[in-house]
Amino acid sequence: MENPVSRYRFLAVDRCNMCGSPVQRHRVMGKRLDRPQGAFPRKRVGICTTVMQCRDCSLIFANPQPVPFDLQDHYGVPPEDYWRGEYFSVSESYFQAEITEAKRLLGFASGMRALDIGAGLGKAMIAMEKSGFEAHGFEPSGPFHERAIARMGIPADRLRLGSLEDLEYDEGRFHFITFGAVLEHLYDPSAAIAKASRWLAPGGVIHIEVPSSRWLVGRLINAAYRVQGLDYVGNISPMHRPFHLFEFGLKSFERDGARNGYAVAHHAYEVCPTYMPALIDPMLRLTMRLTGTGMQLTVWLRRV
Ligand SMILES: [Zn+2]
Repeated sequence: MENPVSRYRFLAVDRCNMCGSPVQRHRVMGKRLDRPQGAFPRKRVGICTTVMQCRDCSLIFANPQPVPFDLQDHYGVPPEDYWRGEYFSVSESYFQAEITEAKRLLGFASGMRALDIGAGLGKAMIAMEKSGFEAHGFEPSGPFHERAIARMGIPADRLRLGSLEDLEYDEGRFHFITFGAVLEHLYDPSAAIAKASRWLAPGGVIHIEVPSSRWLVGRLINAAYRVQGLDYVGNISPMHRPFHLFEFGLKSFERDGARNGYAVAHHAYEVCPTYMPALIDPMLRLTMRLTGTGMQLTVWLRRV
């Protein structure tokens, strides 16, 4: 069994992070354990937090919010065997759909500057540079940052070591900023978007991929718990891998944008593998495609 982190502070949440609605507008969805719950959580031992949903923007979050005393407990150094050869190769198609969409929204001109937030090994930076952007990035993990430069050939002056909270760039510097799949791991996503949007040039775009609060399979899992008479839910994972702290609705971004000066320029719900039995997987995927209930929500934001 996965070894859970033992030391958390539990912070009360009095406002929806994305739209600012007060607790009276939040509903209890159920309880979430500090480890994978499986199909029959009645047999699991652990501690719980409450999973809430904002009625105004459908953001899903924990209240109280567990915050580890040391973030390294969540995102520590990966073991040496993590670094297998295939992690260091970049396929031709890597990040291409995102680059194509960015170029369409931007009215692309060669030499526009791009920024990758949480660049990892720098693969998206390599793809962006190849397609005509001047690619920059930053990465909070030392081992990733080091290998991006040493093994992937990312220029050291283009990739900084640090987190969104610590780093600063000149205002209006970038045309294309990508969060990739980072926002759901941050404790204050609204502040993160506000900070990144200050670095955005006029007409620039921000790309974000997050877990969708409308995900069909998530609802089915919760229904299965309900049938067992349990109030567990499968949403988010604030105390175990992959440490998703939020699930977002399109409204979360529309309402946060109204407060913070940006608008949603484009969005899409992506359907991913369901890991359900082969008999029902195609049916679920079709349903998700038709009803916009796929696992991932992609949004493109523009300053207004
Ligand atoms: Zn909200």
